Amino acid sequence: MPLTDLTIASRFVDHLPSDPELANYTRPVHAACYSRVSPTSVAAPTLVAHSSEVAELLGLSDADCRSDDFASVMGGNALLAGMKPYAACYGGHQFGNWAGQLGDGRAITLGEILHNGQSLEVQLKGAGPTPYSRRADGRAVLRSSIREFLCSEAMAHLGIPTTRALSLVQTGDAVVRDMFYNGNAAPEPGAIVARVAPSFLRFGSYQIHAARRDNDTLRALADYTLRHHFAHLGAPSPETYTAWLTEVCRRTAEMVVHWMRVGFVHGVMNTDNMSVLGLTIDYGPYGWIDAYDHDWTPNTTDAGGRRYRFGFQPRIAGWNLARFAESLYPLIGDVAPLEGALEVYSATLAASHHEMMCAKLGLTTRQEEDDALFRALLEALQEAETDMTIFYRRLSSLDLSAPTLDHFTPSFYAEHSAHPKLADWLIRYSQRAQGEGIPEAQRSAAMCAVNPKYVLRNYLAQEAIDAAEAGDTSRVTTLLDVMRRPYDEQPEHEQFAARRPEWARHKAGCSMLSCSS
Ligand code: AMP
Ligand code: MG
Repeated sequence: MPLTDLTIASRFVDHLPSDPELANYTRPVHAACYSRVSPTSVAAPTLVAHSSEVAELLGLSDADCRSDDFASVMGGNALLAGMKPYAACYGGHQFGNWAGQLGDGRAITLGEILHNGQSLEVQLKGAGPTPYSRRADGRAVLRSSIREFLCSEAMAHLGIPTTRALSLVQTGDAVVRDMFYNGNAAPEPGAIVARVAPSFLRFGSYQIHAARRDNDTLRALADYTLRHHFAHLGAPSPETYTAWLTEVCRRTAEMVVHWMRVGFVHGVMNTDNMSVLGLTIDYGPYGWIDAYDHDWTPNTTDAGGRRYRFGFQPRIAGWNLARFAESLYPLIGDVAPLEGALEVYSATLAASHHEMMCAKLGLTTRQEEDDALFRALLEALQEAETDMTIFYRRLSSLDLSAPTLDHFTPSFYAEHSAHPKLADWLIRYSQRAQGEGIPEAQRSAAMCAVNPKYVLRNYLAQEAIDAAEAGDTSRVTTLLDVMRRPYDEQPEHEQFAARRPEWARHKAGCSMLSCSS
């Protein structure tokens, strides 16, 4: 349907306390969940790519997305009737420290689109300054926008809860960034991603009101969340708040286990980047594991403490949930239910993680020695500098009666080829798997359904960015296509399943990323 026929709602704006100030300047905002603000116009909004699947969720066709109207709205130059754009107020713990008010500094939600009984918010990231922009410009560069656009969709196609990306629009304006924070600021092409989710509410959305001891706004927001996003839990009450927290704990555990399954490192798990719907949100300096490394982080800002390293993500999510639980204390008034919910996090995490590892290995029975088997594998993979994605995928076609390291040659980064720990592990694993007696084809198909062949490798995204910055955006569309079917063999796209090439080992954007975006 044409954009003008969309059904647009504004429940967030209509039902929650608003900042009375309408002028757009940086300020602390109290006793409000949002500030009304419109996108700032850009020079020449041009569509680079869109997601047909997300468009369909909203009732839009590919042709609708290719219209001038679409680029205009998703570039921030026009609003549709019924849109009441706003920036949300939230706070957050950044790298373990309470940072106070943050808010949508460069994201502006246009409105909620109602289609097929579902309500989805459309939010522009990089649409200009808001009252929460602090000292920054409210804009986003093309490179980070390509990364957010592609990864949102890649994650969705992998079956991982995430915010979605409707479109990527180039603005025609330059944005100045100091990519390495070393005094070399330079203009870069600007872009805007239109993100889509039922809600972009974060842990920090509640924390800000709790930190200010503003229980009225906290309660208004919590009740709104229950009514609109957790209606199945019932009417607001201390018990319902507890049930809600428990569900957030469960969903977050499941999301993080998915990340561990596919080798995704979020990079900035601050509490303002944790969705209350359990969605992966805010794609910044994220990365994908190439050579298996429990301690890897793509984020150069975090290189010292490595707080958000791959293997720490489950622990950090737990810490973040504890901060979220604290912010709900004024509504629940008792510590025991909060502790109970956090225990559900630990229990769900342990059970889901175990189940996930069994699935990756094609094992159907649970055994006591599983943990030892998993640990031995991860140690061996790390020691042998093994590509995580290629290894698991190839494991699905291993001849269990004659396991050899050679079968995994394409996955090794290290020059030497003797990997005694991994060789031992393969024998141990093959015996165990054979003992389960699952027919070969069945075992292989089940493993290929959880071990992707194609992930958005850091160097692949960077190649698409380099080409786009040089004027050729076709790589973005190609990658979007490949990532649509991550579990399928796609012989014509085999090159996108290759391990990281040597040139990418230490290249910016491929192995390390700054927060500059
Ligand atoms: P992040 O770590 O990217 O989630 O961002 C943390 C905070 O900084 C959020 O409140 C963002 O809205 C804000 N922020 C990041 N980049 C910009 C920018 N270019 N302009 C305004 N605010 C920004
Ligand atoms: Mg953020």
